[in-house]
Amino acid sequence: MIGRLSLGQMRLAYTQVAMKAASLFFVALLCVSAAAQTPARVNGQRIHEHLKELSKFGANPQGGVSRVAYSEADLQGRQYAIGLMKAAGLDVHIDLAGNIVGTRAGSDASLKPLLIGSHIDSVPMGGNYDGDVGSLSAIEVAQTLKEKQITLHHPLEVIIFQNEEGGTIGSQALGEGLDEKHLNLVSNSGKTIREGTRVVGGDPDQLASVKRQPGSIAGYFELHIEQGGTLEREKIDIGVVEGIVGILHSDVTIEGFANHAGTTPMDQRHDALLSAARFIEKVNQIVTSVPGRQVGTVGWIKVEPGAYNVIPGKVVLGLELRDLDEKKFTGLFDQIRAEGEALGRLNQTRFSFTDAVTSHPALTDKGLQKLIDDTAKSLGFSTKVMPSGAGHDAQEIARIGPVAMIFIPSINGISHSPKEFSRPQDIENGANVLLQTVLAFDKR
Ligand SMILES: [Zn+2]
Repeated sequence: MIGRLSLGQMRLAYTQVAMKAASLFFVALLCVSAAAQTPARVNGQRIHEHLKELSKFGANPQGGVSRVAYSEADLQGRQYAIGLMKAAGLDVHIDLAGNIVGTRAGSDASLKPLLIGSHIDSVPMGGNYDGDVGSLSAIEVAQTLKEKQITLHHPLEVIIFQNEEGGTIGSQALGEGLDEKHLNLVSNSGKTIREGTRVVGGDPDQLASVKRQPGSIAGYFELHIEQGGTLEREKIDIGVVEGIVGILHSDVTIEGFANHAGTTPMDQRHDALLSAARFIEKVNQIVTSVPGRQVGTVGWIKVEPGAYNVIPGKVVLGLELRDLDEKKFTGLFDQIRAEGEALGRLNQTRFSFTDAVTSHPALTDKGLQKLIDDTAKSLGFSTKVMPSGAGHDAQEIARIGPVAMIFIPSINGISHSPKEFSRPQDIENGANVLLQTVLAFDKR
């Protein structure tokens, strides 16, 4: 038909084709620039699926996991995580402490590495979120960077620390270092830390070389479930952790006199358990007598001889205090000790306290806290700055560089239980905050 078109018609047809091509080109251009401007987001569904897969290793009938470090389930879970890390384009190796380390090169090799990660071992009869959420989200961050073809300036290390629940063993090896006392400890698997470290591919005889120097990392970010109920209760999306509390332990012995429970009149007794009961009440009074978020607990008690018909002659109990401020909990301990001794004199029993064993509080970096807070808010999330009442690998890594932690809500504040649960949306939110914080940190 074209042969019969007039010159005018041909001009019109040409103009129409040209306009159509131009508009198509313009739309394509818009799409490309929109893709470039679309902020990177993690794949929440994928994290959810990975969590489900990981939960199979060491699954217990109650719906949680018993994946204690160095157990068969732990080894299987680690293999699964290694597979995910490789799929995310990470270069994976086991360091001499037995931690799983996946590295991703940055564009500037002169920069110190940026670390993200957590742990996948659990307590006996634990849940599917403590540690797993942070570990799988860190891997998801690497996977997203790979898919979006984003190269960071900093080298990135995704680390899954070994045996967090048995005393932050893997992270301590990097920070303060492990000594003979640590290595001889028997872990929940029945193996010593020394044996277990070998089982997961480390070398306990070469731990000195895995220790990292203070100032050798750019920073460490850890996403974790809150393990308390504050965020859910206050309907807050993201917790910005200001620090991990220090912990003080002391064994308290109360000595009385074991005597016949039938023939000894009430006013002639030296009842160690009665003193212990009054002491436990006193601990609670002292800890709550000052403002603040400090906590104090008597968590175990042993009574001797332990019979219906004998007045208890001896009690040993475990006292624990926690706070972000070490001076505060050591001050409370001094007060508790003085009041305990006074109480003993009053009840004709004798109190003695073992020297306090303390782990120091670890404060997170103020600048990194702000970075997380700003990032979370820019994603539309509400935030709250809060302490962590539980210990984490981040407290050990704080010895070698600036650290920060992102918390997401734990439903009903339950943790270290098969009933532990965090909503998929909260996990996705936390992982996106982790990803965007890493990107923002890298741009600074
Ligand atoms: Zn944990």
